[in-house]
Amino acid sequence: MRCFFDLNPDSLRDACLALQLPGYVADQIIDWVYAKGVIDPIAWTNISKQNRELIAASFRFYASELAAHQQASDGTQKLLLNWHEPSESPTQDRLAVVAPPKSTETVMIPTEKRRTACLSSQVGCPVGCHFCASGLGGLEGNLKAGQIIEQAHRLSWLPQTGGRLTNIVFMGMGEPLANYAAVTGAIRTLNAPWGLGIGARRITISTVGLPAAIRKLVSFEIPVTLALSLHAPNDEIRRKLIPWAEYATIDELLDACDEYFAKTGREITLEYLLLRNVNDRVEHAKELASVAMRLRANINLIRYNEVRGLPFDRPTTEDVHAFQDVLRERHVNAHLRASRGRDIAAACGQLRHEKLRSHTG
Ligand code: SF4
Repeated sequence: MRCFFDLNPDSLRDACLALQLPGYVADQIIDWVYAKGVIDPIAWTNISKQNRELIAASFRFYASELAAHQQASDGTQKLLLNWHEPSESPTQDRLAVVAPPKSTETVMIPTEKRRTACLSSQVGCPVGCHFCASGLGGLEGNLKAGQIIEQAHRLSWLPQTGGRLTNIVFMGMGEPLANYAAVTGAIRTLNAPWGLGIGARRITISTVGLPAAIRKLVSFEIPVTLALSLHAPNDEIRRKLIPWAEYATIDELLDACDEYFAKTGREITLEYLLLRNVNDRVEHAKELASVAMRLRANINLIRYNEVRGLPFDRPTTEDVHAFQDVLRERHVNAHLRASRGRDIAAACGQLRHEKLRSHTG
């Protein structure tokens, strides 16, 4: 069975022809799935019953099982998806029944004008940032392009959201540039007019920073927005928070980001998670201002949401404002990102973390 979301119009057309279906059926399928959001072939009334049954038997549309769906009081919706790996042989099928599902989270955050999907790119995360629930169990696997697209499609067609997705951020579980081929493959469909049609500027890759992968992204044909998860004003603090900071200094990251800006004209955003008494002091804000000025970058300040079992605290409101004031005095554009969905633990990896805890007692 082919996974529909791994296909583009050309490969879907080839797959239809191989099933003795007319080529134009591929266009009809794409219209039903992407434009109308209907993934059950039996409901596709402009296709003959016989062909609908053949399509239903030949393609898998949603490959994940919806394990949980939460809605916060502010409208944020979070899905926990279980992925059962497709298996080819009867032996593997038997194993698949007993193997535990791999799960990822995906979140839709609505505002007055936007509906932003926060997508996962990997199952677990290899980076292991010490403040993050997603990194606790390490990396369990890479998501395929189709699995990334499926998350966006599910979020785009959630009921009661007020419309389709307008923005995509790769800020869910995983390091997107460590799964480069699948992420860029998914972006082609998310951006395509026949797919979800989301503009390049409205797609953001958020990375802890792999200079070689950032340089590779310079030649990617879709100039997406790049956000660098800095989270520290200097290398010493960064290495204490982000294990992969060992592999690249802040200077090296800024050089790669400069190249990205020079080629694409896209301003870089710095993401900075404020952790109480760790990186939220006035002296840290001064150092951060220098980094931002060198890159001419905007800063997104994020107030930490506590994760059960992790030794970090949420900063006080006074400290957050003092931090922001230092940046603004230096004419650095620093935006405090609103905490969304706190009542459903919307921070990266928290729902999955809670489920795993409840399964392991
Ligand atoms: S913050 Fe991002 S990069 Fe760090 S462990 Fe969590 S998911 Fe991975």
